[in-house]
Amino acid sequence: MPKSISIVFPMYNEEESILPLLNATLPVVSKITKDYEIIFVDDGSKDKTPKILEQLKKEKNIKVYTLKKNSGKATALYVGFQKATKDIIVTMDSDLQDDPKEIPLLIEKIEEGYDFVNGWKKNKHVEHTSPIKRLSSITFNQMTKIVSGTNFNDYNCPFKAFRNEVAKDLFLYGDMHRYIPVQVANMGYKYTEVIVSNYPRKFGITKYGSKRIIKGFFDLITIKYLITYKNSPLHAFGTIGLLFGGLGMLCNFYLYITWLMGYGIGGRPLLFLAVLLTIIGLQFISMGLLGEMITNNITRDADNLIK
Ligand code: UDP
Ligand code: MG
Repeated sequence: MPKSISIVFPMYNEEESILPLLNATLPVVSKITKDYEIIFVDDGSKDKTPKILEQLKKEKNIKVYTLKKNSGKATALYVGFQKATKDIIVTMDSDLQDDPKEIPLLIEKIEEGYDFVNGWKKNKHVEHTSPIKRLSSITFNQMTKIVSGTNFNDYNCPFKAFRNEVAKDLFLYGDMHRYIPVQVANMGYKYTEVIVSNYPRKFGITKYGSKRIIKGFFDLITIKYLITYKNSPLHAFGTIGLLFGGLGMLCNFYLYITWLMGYGIGGRPLLFLAVLLTIIGLQFISMGLLGEMITNNITRDADNLIK
C-alpha cells in the first residue's frame, strides 16, 4: 500500500521560520510519497504568520487552520491531528530546532509496524539551552518516568510520528502535549524511539518559560490519575474516603467507650476531630460515586478497544 503522510506544524509567532521550514520539508516529504499534506496550525499568532500562511494556503498540498486565539501547543496539535487525513502523521516544532531531513527515520519505524515513534534528542547541545531549562528538562523526564511507569528518554521531544488513528486518540489540551508518550503507552500501542538531532532556535523566542515547572507538576498528577483511575474513580476517592472515615469512626468509638465509662465528652477536642474526619470521609466517597457516574456516561467505541 502506498503510504500517505500528513505533517503537522503548530505555530505561534514564527514568521521568520515558516518559509525556511517549508523549503526544508517539501523536498524530503515529496521524495517519500506524492500523497502528502502539510498542515500549518496558526495558534493565534500576532506577527506576520497569518499573512504568510494566507498566501501559502493557495498551494496544493498545504492546509492552514487558524485558531481563534492563542490556545497553546497542545490545542494546536489537537486541531492538526483531527484534521489530518493521511495514514501517517508526523509533527515537529516550527522553529527549525528539528531537522525535516530526519522525517524518513521516523516514517521507517511506522512502516516497520510501530504505532508511534518518539524522537530522542540524545545529544543535546549544552550551549543551546540555559541551565534552568536543562535542569527542568532532566527533572521533568525523571519525574514522568517514575510517576507514569513508562520508559521514554525524551518525553517532550517535539519530533514525533503516529499512525493516524493513534494521534486522533490523544487527549490534548493545556500542556498535555508533554505527556503524549505516556498516553500512547497507556493506550496499549506499540512504540519506539529514534535518536534525532537538535539545533538552536534560529529566529524568534521560546514561548515556554520556567513557569511550566509548576504547571507540569499538576499535569503529572492529572495524567497519573487519568491513567490509574479514569475508569474507576471510586477506587481513588473511595480509598481516601475510607481512610479518613475509618479514622473518624475509630475516634468516635473511643469516645463512645469513654462516655459509657461515665466521662463527659461534650467539650473534648477529639470529638470535633472525629466529626470532621467522618464528614471528610463521606465527602470523598460521594465524590468517587459522582466520578463513577461521569465515567459511566462516557460512551466508549468498541472498535477503539480492539487491537
Ligand atoms: N507554540 C504554539 N502555541 C503556543 C506556544 C508555542 O503553537 O502557545 C508552538 C511554537 O510555535 C513552536 C512549538 O510550539 O513550534 C514549541 O514552542 P517553543 O519553541 O517556543 O518551545 P521550546 O522549544 O522552547 O520548548
Ligand atoms: Mg523550540
